[in-house]
Amino acid sequence: MRRLPVFFVIDCSESMVGQPLQAVQEGVDFIMNSLRTDPYALETVYVSVIAYAGIVRTLVPLTELFAYQACELPLGGGTHLGKALDHLAKEIERSVIKTTADVKGDWKPVVYLFTDGRPTDDYEGAISRWKAKYENKVTLVAIGLGQDVDFSILKRLTEHCISVDQIDQDYVKNLCKWISASVVSQSISVGQHQDRQDLLPLDERYMHLAKERLTFRKSKADDRTVTIVGRCQKLHHPYILKYSRRLQYGELSDLNINIYNFKLEACTGISEDYFSWTDHAAEKAKINTSVLDGSAGCPHCYAETAFAMCACGSLMCYDGYSEYAVCPWCQRQISFSVSGGDFDLTRGQG
Ligand SMILES: [Zn+2]
Ligand SMILES: [Zn+2]
Repeated sequence: MRRLPVFFVIDCSESMVGQPLQAVQEGVDFIMNSLRTDPYALETVYVSVIAYAGIVRTLVPLTELFAYQACELPLGGGTHLGKALDHLAKEIERSVIKTTADVKGDWKPVVYLFTDGRPTDDYEGAISRWKAKYENKVTLVAIGLGQDVDFSILKRLTEHCISVDQIDQDYVKNLCKWISASVVSQSISVGQHQDRQDLLPLDERYMHLAKERLTFRKSKADDRTVTIVGRCQKLHHPYILKYSRRLQYGELSDLNINIYNFKLEACTGISEDYFSWTDHAAEKAKINTSVLDGSAGCPHCYAETAFAMCACGSLMCYDGYSEYAVCPWCQRQISFSVSGGDFDLTRGQG
């Protein structure tokens, strides 16, 4: 029996924190569950799930559908697309059976690559390696979630670039219905011994084929979202503050003036696992608190603010009245003074 290998390569960067990641998690579960009810898919489809942030790992190695066990998507700092492509290439080499003179190998593999931003690593080499070796051997569908996707990069990888306008349950569910219908249709055509590649029609209310967009962004960290990691002073658990850019003056932002700011969107508790999915060697950008607007309480101990800073440069929560505290990052005892001044913080890679 020739197999149809389907790889899901999923961006789990910190800008996905909270509801977007939850929507994608439900979407992946939905795809697997609906494929498992389809007789054609059950017969030929093998699935694999790879997650990437600052680190890339295979969550589910290529597995036949009925043996697939649900996996939990992680969260980490960074969107290392280059590393993800190299990792995917290795997985394909390792697990896809090639056709030789004696063996009829697997059907042409299909990859669904998800991202919500733009790469934070050096992806040029990886794109060239991918194009040289896999462009004609693998069907790659790149899916950009939300408004921050740099399609000029994805377009170089594949002609199949799909833009999903928003990252919420409705939009992601619709996308995932389309993906599972696409996989079923591919499994039917290989059942008829055809390797077909054309995409099923898209529901234009939710998604469309992406056109290239001009980008003004220069720094490596994501310019439309700012994420900052803190720790609860009492319980030591980490959390993420996510800010979204509010005003956009296009090319004016090339001037060195703060004519934009970022509004707090969410303050969410995260697991310690976050640090093992983050590339700690990556360049650390700073952000001045004067452009950050809005504050939140600690999601772990409900202290008044999640936005207190130690002299070591790290963020922690503060109850608003204790005179002394121990920094959960550097373990030093610190005394708090109320400061109206702005300061620089290390921001996440997005
Ligand atoms: Zn706390
Ligand atoms: Zn400290």
